[in-house]
Amino acid sequence: QEDVFKKVVSHAKEYGFIFPSSEIYDGLSAIYDYGQNGAELKNNIKQYWWKAMVQMNENIVGIDSAIFMHPTIWKASGHVDAFNDPLIDNKDSKKRFRADVLLEDYCAKLEDKAQKEIEKAAKRFGDSFNEEEFVSTNPRVLEYRQKQKTILERLAKSLTNNDLADVKSLIEELEIADPDTGSKNWTEVRQFNLMFGTKLGAASESATDLYLRPETAQGIFVNYLNVQKTSRHKLPFGIAQIGKAFRNEIVARQFIFRMREFEQMEMQYFVPPGTELTFYEEWKQKRLNWHLALGLGNENYKFHDHEKLAHYANAAADIEFKFPFGFKELEGIHSRTDFDLSAHEKFSGKKLQYFDNERNESYVPYVVETSVGLDRLFLAIFSNSLKDEVLEDGSERTVLSLPPALAPVKAAILPLMKKDGLGEYAEKIFDDLKFDFNLIYEEKDSIGKRYRRNDAIGTPFCITIDHDSLVDNTVTIRDRDTMKQERVAVADLRRIIDEKVNF
Ligand code: ATP
Repeated sequence: QEDVFKKVVSHAKEYGFIFPSSEIYDGLSAIYDYGQNGAELKNNIKQYWWKAMVQMNENIVGIDSAIFMHPTIWKASGHVDAFNDPLIDNKDSKKRFRADVLLEDYCAKLEDKAQKEIEKAAKRFGDSFNEEEFVSTNPRVLEYRQKQKTILERLAKSLTNNDLADVKSLIEELEIADPDTGSKNWTEVRQFNLMFGTKLGAASESATDLYLRPETAQGIFVNYLNVQKTSRHKLPFGIAQIGKAFRNEIVARQFIFRMREFEQMEMQYFVPPGTELTFYEEWKQKRLNWHLALGLGNENYKFHDHEKLAHYANAAADIEFKFPFGFKELEGIHSRTDFDLSAHEKFSGKKLQYFDNERNESYVPYVVETSVGLDRLFLAIFSNSLKDEVLEDGSERTVLSLPPALAPVKAAILPLMKKDGLGEYAEKIFDDLKFDFNLIYEEKDSIGKRYRRNDAIGTPFCITIDHDSLVDNTVTIRDRDTMKQERVAVADLRRIIDEKVNF
């Protein structure tokens, strides 16, 4: 698994998808830059989401609010007081950890042990194996599962009560060690706020302390009435947004899975009070279906319903994806109640009520949100698409089998050679198709090498121009996935490409 992940990281760099930020200065922890192919793939993912959210839903509109916001917003939203992670240091290794993650990792190991028992038994019993019966009766599996439950419940309770001493006791009782050094010498647990601060204004004495937004949602909440009045949508209606968010994550690892600067694609759906749980269920299903439509394999997704709810929610679930390092959160669906809008009413002193004609009353709407990390989705798609294949003739190739609609380059235009007018002919094809598709033109190296390079960045089609092309206006088109080559008329290229790469 670790090898697969390493390959993902190095492939992303080698083929112009993702570079460590500020690399010539040895990088900046958990910050990344998107290269020429990464920027295209990321833009295509954004469009795919925006289209499904805004274009295909009559009652959802999109906005683009500023990253800087009035500092009181983060008081009202609860972020100043509660957007914390529990932090613990190891006194010997001087390394810093999230206390909750140490405990969750411990539970994941218990679960691994349970899975091993199940696998062993499955092998032993063969066809007659009944998993359900086994897990409900096998004493070892029951013990592993019960222990996890006890730990997670105690963790949730201690964090809710801000009983940080108990979180530390739990770590000590379980004898959890620094995974690298084995040291069990821990400091106290303390809360660490994840928001980045900055200053607005030139003169330091009059400058205002601001935060970089840790989520895009608040830009939607404070604009909801502006949008509602100008769009004249009735409830239920939604506001969508794609934008940067910033979190000073304590442990930033796992590449673009957990970054300090990242992008979110969020949609807040405003609904009448009392209807929120129905819409919550509806959006859970809609969002899962949207992910499944990408075709990365239904077995790679699962829901995780939250027991420990954030300060603003009355129901919450994650859509988890099977990343190279296991199932992890990809998207959150939260029923946020009227928590945010009511708090903004209180802190701003402005009325944020909606008049409902049918009910003939005014109220603060309830909110159901869907929130997916663009970079996490990028990682899910990218890592799932990267494959090493052994071909029929025994040779190997690396192919990035991205959904064609998302591929950074839709077709590569490849003259067999530059001379004899093939170069000019290929350029003409390029110029004719460039209005509709992102293309690349390559005339260097053998055609085989050029095919391999395009496989590695996920280009659905390679179009080769040879001497016959000049005679009969046909070209060879090669399909990335089947590697089949077909002779087609130049006049048909636009239609053939379009059929495959359209959303
Ligand atoms: P996690 O538990 O992984 O820290 P979260 O529950 O804090 O995530 P939310 O606040 O629900 O995440 O944010 C919504 C989405 O934003 C997440 O599902 C994830 O895809 C993305 N996201 C959150 N934090 C990061 C980050 N540091 N880097 C990249 N994406 C992130």
